[in-house]
Amino acid sequence: MTATTERPETTLDPDLLVDGSMLIGGEWVPSSGGETIDVVNPATVQVLARVPRGNAADVDAAVRAAEQAFPAWRDLDATSRGRLLFRWADLIEQHGTALDQLESQEVGRPSWGPPPMAGQLRFIAGQADKVQGLSLPTYSPDQLGLTLREPYGVVGAIIPWNAPGPMFATEVGAAIAAGNTIVIKPAEDAPLTPLALAKLALEAGIPPGVVNVVTGYGGEAGAAIPAHPSIRRMGFTGSPQTGSLIMKACADNLVPLHLELGGKSPQVVFPDADLDAAVPAMVMGITLNTGQICAAGSRVVCLRSVHDELVDRLAAQMQRVRVGAWHEPVNMGPLISERQHQRVLGYIDLGREAGAEVVTGGGVPAGYDTGYFVEPTLFDNVAPDMRIAQEEIFGPVLSVIAVDDEAEAIEVANGTEYGLVASVWTNDVGTAVRMSRRLQAGQVAVNSPLGAGVIGGPFGGYKHSGFGRTMGADSVLEWTQVKTVSMRAAVPPVPRTRTPEDD
Ligand code: ADP
Repeated sequence: MTATTERPETTLDPDLLVDGSMLIGGEWVPSSGGETIDVVNPATVQVLARVPRGNAADVDAAVRAAEQAFPAWRDLDATSRGRLLFRWADLIEQHGTALDQLESQEVGRPSWGPPPMAGQLRFIAGQADKVQGLSLPTYSPDQLGLTLREPYGVVGAIIPWNAPGPMFATEVGAAIAAGNTIVIKPAEDAPLTPLALAKLALEAGIPPGVVNVVTGYGGEAGAAIPAHPSIRRMGFTGSPQTGSLIMKACADNLVPLHLELGGKSPQVVFPDADLDAAVPAMVMGITLNTGQICAAGSRVVCLRSVHDELVDRLAAQMQRVRVGAWHEPVNMGPLISERQHQRVLGYIDLGREAGAEVVTGGGVPAGYDTGYFVEPTLFDNVAPDMRIAQEEIFGPVLSVIAVDDEAEAIEVANGTEYGLVASVWTNDVGTAVRMSRRLQAGQVAVNSPLGAGVIGGPFGGYKHSGFGRTMGADSVLEWTQVKTVSMRAAVPPVPRTRTPEDD
């Protein structure tokens, strides 16, 4: 794997860094309680900045600001709304390097190069003026039937820390493209990129109050959003446990929502697969962002005849992954926090105890006592029902499960509660077609990991991986509600019947 080059330990662009405040109604404000939360670089554990510890009162202020901004934003013509989103995307592109550096430092990953946000946002901006209704048949020639797609009003979103920039741009972009105004809470571990993006949104001319960012903890600021009586729709991306809590809060408040939750994505490898291409891609798929990607391909389901060669090659490739802090020439950074570190190391212990074999990795890399580092880890002889094969680990841990035939491959691949992404590695078009139909996942990728590379591909899950789709053209429609309009021509005056007196 090509490692990124060395750079200074901390590089924060003062134009983009928001330290100590959040955005409500176009103003940069502290929390009403005055408290802050430290945001640390997980490689060095150094504090990068502080953000307000927002609470229910701050959420209420943000909702009121969004309510005030809503009528004008709703009534702005769709072309102008789209143009403002395009301008926002241009600013994101202009600041691409600084945004990449900021996200790298707060998430703790090596640089990915220009972030995907500008392109994702442009795709969504292009949908703003394509929100269309229908014309419907009616019983009378004097009547028209129409559907209008209208924004909900003030909507809410809660996003996680693993890819804060793209999550923010796609959730906010789709919601406001449809004419809603939004209150969004980034994760407490990685709120700086969202705040920087919000700053650029204001600079692009998106009016104050259209985008409001309340920082803080999930149980405080987060819980207050779906429970607020004026929130009309929610979007949530995060863990299934928190997703379930959000859904309960939405049920109490009768608020519709979409959920993008976890995954346990299978990588199904057939004997005719091109292993030269597949192995580096599979290892990239589980080490990118240190495995902290909901789409990470964390289970290898391989036909027995290819098993031994595949395991040897995966292990060799994993050993080539250089681990370190974002500013060093490395491929993989630390995990985000002490909590995630304990969790991933705990799963590695669980795998060993259950009888799976650690082929490579399996602990903290030598010399990394500071920061939350863990080795890329390959488990072989994994049984499909082991916890490491069923539960989302959210770390660079890959489990290999051998199967006898295609039918068993499908059964094992589909045999978890999740259904986010599934990959198939084969050169046989028949196998590719059958697997694409039979795999229970919101995205199926043939000969690629993670399901990436499709422009405007809807993203979301089957089963416990969630419902609703982000990123695609439909993501804008998800933030609209449908109104049927029945319109009668003014009833013409009924002609008076002639009477004998008229003659
Ligand atoms: P993780 O465990 O990986 O941090 P979570 O699902 O807990 O994932 O977090 C995703 C987002 O949900 C974060 O912004 C977090 O602050 C928020 N969150 C956590 N708990 C709650 C909650 N009870 N109500 C609302 N939001 C929450």
